[in-house]
Amino acid sequence: MLSPMMQQYFKIKDEYKDYLLFYRLGDFYEMFFDDAVLASRLLELTLTGRDCGEEERAPMCGVPYHSVDTYIGKLVSLGYKIAICEQMEDPASATGLVKREVIRIITPGTLVESDLLDEKANNYICSLYKCEDGVGLAFADVSTGEFSCTAIPKDHLYKLTGEIGAFAPSELIMNVSENEIQETLKYLKVKLGTMVTPVPAEYYDRDSAVETLKSQFAEVPADIIEQNEPARVAASSLMHYLSDMQKGNISYIDKLRYYSDGQYLEIDLNSKRNLELCQSIRSREKKGTLLWVLDKTRSAAGARLLRSYLEKPLCNAYLINKRLSAVEELKNNVMLRGEISDAMSGVLDVERILTRVVYSNSNARDIRAIAQTAEKASAIKALLKAASSDELVSAYHGIDAIDDIRLRIESELADELPVSVREGGFIRKGYNEEVDRLRGIVGDAKHWLLRMEEQEREQTGIRNLRIGYNRVFGYYIEVSRSNIGDVPERYLRKQTLTTGERYITPELKELENEILGGSEKLCELEYKLFTELVEYVSSNMERIQKMAARLAVIDVYASLAEAADKNGYVRPEVDVSDSIEITDGRHPIVELFGQKSFFVPNDTKLNCGDDRFMLITGPNMAGKSTYMRQVALITIMAQIGSFVPAKYARIGIVDKIFTRVGASDDLAMGQSTFMLEMSEVAYILHNATKKSLILYDEIGRGTSTYDGMSIAKAVAEYTAGKKLGAKTLFATHYHELTVLEDLIPGVKNYSIAAKKRGDDVIFLRRIIRGAADDSFGIEVAKLAGVPGEVVKRAKVVLAELNSAEPKPPAPEKPMYEPHEEAISLDDIIGRELRDKLNKTDLNILSPIESLNLLYELKKTASGTSNDT
Ligand code: ADP
Ligand code: MG
Repeated sequence: MLSPMMQQYFKIKDEYKDYLLFYRLGDFYEMFFDDAVLASRLLELTLTGRDCGEEERAPMCGVPYHSVDTYIGKLVSLGYKIAICEQMEDPASATGLVKREVIRIITPGTLVESDLLDEKANNYICSLYKCEDGVGLAFADVSTGEFSCTAIPKDHLYKLTGEIGAFAPSELIMNVSENEIQETLKYLKVKLGTMVTPVPAEYYDRDSAVETLKSQFAEVPADIIEQNEPARVAASSLMHYLSDMQKGNISYIDKLRYYSDGQYLEIDLNSKRNLELCQSIRSREKKGTLLWVLDKTRSAAGARLLRSYLEKPLCNAYLINKRLSAVEELKNNVMLRGEISDAMSGVLDVERILTRVVYSNSNARDIRAIAQTAEKASAIKALLKAASSDELVSAYHGIDAIDDIRLRIESELADELPVSVREGGFIRKGYNEEVDRLRGIVGDAKHWLLRMEEQEREQTGIRNLRIGYNRVFGYYIEVSRSNIGDVPERYLRKQTLTTGERYITPELKELENEILGGSEKLCELEYKLFTELVEYVSSNMERIQKMAARLAVIDVYASLAEAADKNGYVRPEVDVSDSIEITDGRHPIVELFGQKSFFVPNDTKLNCGDDRFMLITGPNMAGKSTYMRQVALITIMAQIGSFVPAKYARIGIVDKIFTRVGASDDLAMGQSTFMLEMSEVAYILHNATKKSLILYDEIGRGTSTYDGMSIAKAVAEYTAGKKLGAKTLFATHYHELTVLEDLIPGVKNYSIAAKKRGDDVIFLRRIIRGAADDSFGIEVAKLAGVPGEVVKRAKVVLAELNSAEPKPPAPEKPMYEPHEEAISLDDIIGRELRDKLNKTDLNILSPIESLNLLYELKKTASGTSNDT
């Protein structure tokens, strides 16, 4: 027969089979049976046993309740899910078996423990709902209360990976089987470590979705209720899941944000990685990224917000210019910025503290942090009084520094606060009469205790008599063995030690009652007051959240202003033109890695007319890749509202940025370099528009020369041609392509200058009009330390080749002539190529299929296809 406790355990465990059950037993969370065996191995805990009523003992291991977070963190990071089962009544007063319930479930996407989270990054959970109309996505950060949703129409599903990836969710739930979105999942799992959690189908109930959302959010955008079923069901499913995980404690998630296509600059995941916006390619760290350059934020919420700006730059010139004006004001007004930054340093992570408040996980220090932050908010508000830019003025009017809440917290909590709220000692003197009275009694009694000790020593003549306390026996008078003879009759023996005896007297008993009773009452009362304070704070949640959100925005503006000032940036002119004009532009990251002013600035002129396609040649190491990235980075900076590294910049807003930069094998994803390169090219050709900015860096490298050159040429023609005509930077080592300048309007040859001096090459880092005349390959080889003998031999071979011909054939006339009269994209080959590409759903293509497709496309492109 199982013991009653074990019966209770199994009843609960049955409901939470997929979870490691942390079963509260006194000061420990215990695990039993398989859970215990597994956890003991994973956490390196000693496996013990417990009598469970059966013949065999139950395997058991446990962790102390006060350090449970560390263990939870480890298990969650290993991909396990945990159910926390608490004692629902005080074991001391419970009759029979203590009632227990699972109060929370912890998964990677539902963490709220700030120790387990990166304070400078959000932790998102995503729900995906697929239906005939497309896909709905909802994202939540449970630790901050952020919640948003969007939809992707069915003919835009190629955006799925990018859209989810932008949030880098740690957990995903969905209503489809894994193989339906295999490619996306592969990316999420391998690159982002996303965990997929199976959930019941009821979460995705369409009929109750509106109801669910309305009961959670005060305002639900009309779009979502009326027409956007995918977004609606995704959002309601996520709400269902969260409320099941958190057992209903999700009232603080109270704002639903809906966003749609076109609101944000689209940068696919590959391009984000290539451009190193928030993560460096090699080490996946923040150092060496654009975020690293721009992040001068002082608060955790500010740091998170800046990161989200970079993840989603804007496309609206009005909003961008508002941000720019705020940044400009703070850049110019150094005093104001300095004072704001100082105040900002004292701003604490109120968003996450509020979550702890809601989960009843907060202590007095957390509550005081809210008041401390409010004090800073009030200082910042005062500083902003004289501000003149729209955004700062509206921040001034908009900041509610919650004075009333702050005053209550300050008047109630003492200066020195303990970690625990169970043992009292945190209510300020003078706040509550009863607290003061009880403290008086306890304090007095302690004083009487000292008096009593003195008196007893005098009366008995025992000099080393002392009064002590322990939990089991309470207060006692201790007399050492040698003095026992002098103990008076009225002492009652309580405990015998090897060194002496412990006694009690009626007077001591009375004092003890007073002290213990008083202390207990005091702790209870203080705890009650604290609970009321927490309730009060909870009921004002929205105001506090808003204050925190306002502060984060100002922190970001100040950060961008400081970066602009430190690094010598200018305010870009941002408008809806199709021009990108940059004078003396610099690469924001590279310029910080060398000596001051080592970086050679360069100009850029791009538009959708005569200057839409920069074909850049030049030797290896000349600086082509750096130049191209710099143009993309400056554009992104402008669109988040940042100043830019240049003397002058005018940025006509672009809708999407694509990069095909560098070749690195992506073995983890099972793709070869060439395959990867081509799938990226395919992606760009599918999705770019006239308003996009495209960077192609040395495409066609991963295959044979003729193959590669043909592909590069076809892609260049298509991109520059009339059908697409996107602003493009195209670096290539195929000098043969420079003839395109004469064939396609809008194509301009550029090169990055290098000079030969004797056998050496000197890089000038200057971009100039015209094609490079030499690739300096041998000189670069020499520079890199290839032995002289080999260099010499290479020169001989080159001379032989040059005289012996045949050179690779010069490309013929382009296949897609953009002139009206000439053959255009609507030409048979072009149409066919495009149809084939359009028909292809990249999301379901296996690598082999893609390769086959590619061969086919190439055949078509070169006009040798026989299935026309
Ligand atoms: P490429 O793509 O032409 O082979 P890269 O862009 O990789 O050349 O640049 C090669 C090196 O030159 C880089 O290490 C970079 O630090 C340096 N570099 C590039 N552009 C500049 C510049 N404008 N000023 C100074 N150094 C530069
Ligand atoms: Mg390069």
